[in-house]
Amino acid sequence: MVFAQYRKKGSAGAMNEPIKVTEIFGEDVFNDTVMQERLPKKVYRDLKRMIEEGQELDLVTADVIAHEMKEWAIEKGATHYTHWFQPLTGVTAEKHDAFISAPLPSGKVLMSFSGKELIKGEPDASSFPSGGLRATFEARGYTMWDCTSPAFIRHDAAGATLCIPTAFCSYTGEALDQKTPLLRSMQAINEQSLRLIRLFGNDTSMKVVPSVGAEQEYFLVDAGKFKERKDLIYAGRTLFGAMPPKGQELDDHYFGTIRQRIAAFMKEVNEELWRVGVTSKTQHNEVAPAQHELAPIYAPANVAVDHNHIVMQTLKRVACRHGMKCLFHEKPFAGVNGSGKHNNWSLITDDGKNLLDPGKTPHENIQFLLVLTCILKAVDEHAALLRESAADPGNDHRLGASEAPPAIISVFLGEQLDAVFRQLIHTGAATHSPDREKLRTGVKTIPLLSKDATDRNRTSPFAFTGNKFEFRMVGSRDSIASPNVVLNTIVSEAFAEACDALEQKLKAGEDFNDAVHDLIKTYASEHSRIVFNGNGYSAEWVEKSKELGLPNLKSMVEAIPALTTEKTIELFERFKVMTRDELRSRAEIKYENYAKAINIEARTMIDMASKQFMPAVVKYTKVLADTVNAVRETGADAEVQTEMLAEVSVLLREMKNALEELKNKEDAAIHLPEGKEQANFYYQQVVPAMDKLRDPVDKLEMIVDKEAWPMPSYGDLIFEV
Ligand code: ADP
Ligand code: MG
Repeated sequence: MVFAQYRKKGSAGAMNEPIKVTEIFGEDVFNDTVMQERLPKKVYRDLKRMIEEGQELDLVTADVIAHEMKEWAIEKGATHYTHWFQPLTGVTAEKHDAFISAPLPSGKVLMSFSGKELIKGEPDASSFPSGGLRATFEARGYTMWDCTSPAFIRHDAAGATLCIPTAFCSYTGEALDQKTPLLRSMQAINEQSLRLIRLFGNDTSMKVVPSVGAEQEYFLVDAGKFKERKDLIYAGRTLFGAMPPKGQELDDHYFGTIRQRIAAFMKEVNEELWRVGVTSKTQHNEVAPAQHELAPIYAPANVAVDHNHIVMQTLKRVACRHGMKCLFHEKPFAGVNGSGKHNNWSLITDDGKNLLDPGKTPHENIQFLLVLTCILKAVDEHAALLRESAADPGNDHRLGASEAPPAIISVFLGEQLDAVFRQLIHTGAATHSPDREKLRTGVKTIPLLSKDATDRNRTSPFAFTGNKFEFRMVGSRDSIASPNVVLNTIVSEAFAEACDALEQKLKAGEDFNDAVHDLIKTYASEHSRIVFNGNGYSAEWVEKSKELGLPNLKSMVEAIPALTTEKTIELFERFKVMTRDELRSRAEIKYENYAKAINIEARTMIDMASKQFMPAVVKYTKVLADTVNAVRETGADAEVQTEMLAEVSVLLREMKNALEELKNKEDAAIHLPEGKEQANFYYQQVVPAMDKLRDPVDKLEMIVDKEAWPMPSYGDLIFEV
């Protein structure tokens, strides 16, 4: 526990120390309570208005806020502040500045932090991917305070740092990060949702916020064993490794001790998260003893994105302290269930009404049904784009690779809602029904959905679970920003179109209810193909979905083009979420990221095979050969040993050939121009060559003496955390 001193002073590191949750929750957050306590009334009101209505803040007010924020942070031990942002590298970035100002004549320094420093920062944009935007625009970029996500203090080896969530843009305003389009998409969905609920007579809600809860899966492995595997170090996943034989599952007693270690880890994770205001709520073990899940309570989308990054960073940091490594790769171990993130999404008004809640009255029900069918329409029309939003190199091993969910987007409604949906399609045009219990489409009021009925299907990529949709494709390592950008924007479009249609009908003097019913029925009928309640794993579904014309994009490189179709560009430009250039740059960055990831994996495999597996197996053949000779000398039969030697030699030959092939392909790949062509070459040529090298090595692992194998096995990693 060398890192123990990096824990926050007074934290409950000791086993039995109780955690006083209500006392510590949010204590390191510059939250509403702190603002109310510290800021002058007018400044507080101005800031609230800025947060709630997105109004600009003048520099004088910003100076006051910055000063109070600094005083508060210093009281908490902070020496530095940082603009915390999310460039397109997939991880967060930050540049630290100390609060100190230029020395006084006395030689002393003061601690200072201005409004300007709070609002705007200037990291060196040239070191972050811009996907060509840099060529056309200035290299400089700036970070801008996202005052809707509260600042917080992080305690780690660097001491205490005030972290200010920011968005990151180029000097001419192009988004260079995940957050800018997210905030823009939140504005779009707010506007369109308000339009929609106004039509339904809601004049009281002032804001509609996409609310997100991300369930995070991860693996924990022993740090000592991790360090013995170059693949885990460089690629974050095992590139070789045979599955432990079945039956290796250890007994509960043994798990008991492992779980104590994990429990101590989780206790500390929770405590750290609560201090920075992350509502860590549920945690559980997955099937393998090394896999776990953590979920916070849902929050506004941008806060949820920030919190998910905090969750991942905290898990990593605390794991180190406990002598473990936290793996976020989507598929750390072949043949073992991978990790994802379930992105739970709904639309909630500022006065607490969830637009995805079916409600109890027929009136609430028709608004819900319109929202629901709009979402179906959005998902059906932009299925490829939604799939793309979850594309990363690691997810290629999950989606469509005999693991839930499949790469085909479909929507699960659950039995009860599906029955309503079928009725919608099959009843005639909307008629006035004398039966007040019935919706005019002929549907009875929606039954109260039991959670059970909506939650059963675990293979669906996009499932309705009672009062929210759960998008289950997102990779465990990925930011949840892009899936939410896509969800917010495609649903904005569907709402906008529905509102256009309804407004027109109202103008033409049509009855509102009839118009809504007609629209619901039209959408339900036109987009029924996207609804699928069966088993997403099955081969029949793959066939059926093909007939229905649903895209089945098995890999990241096949998904990326969805970002730059005219349809996508039109969508994003219409709602001012991203421009054509921003989308193109994102596609470019994604191709580069893919190529880089596979390049690292291929080179790591070449390194491991040449320097570790080949020598180990060559040595082992000598041991076998010596044994054969020694046994023969005694006059005994050495047939088995000879057979083993032959078998190992054949696999060694295979390994050598595959290694040469991979080297050649890798060499060809790195000489291609960066971008689409190179990424495709990696996918079509390098990845299969990697599989070919892995195969003989994994077979050898099963034959070669464990003592002679140069690294910890799957069994060691997964079952002995
Ligand atoms: P499970 O999916 O395991 O049944 P829950 O239904 O409790 O678990 O929720 C999983 C995640 O969904 C949690 O992060 C939770 O806060 C979030 N969640 C619950 N309701 C909503 C909602 N209306 N909108 C967005 N997220 C939600
Ligand atoms: Mg879930």
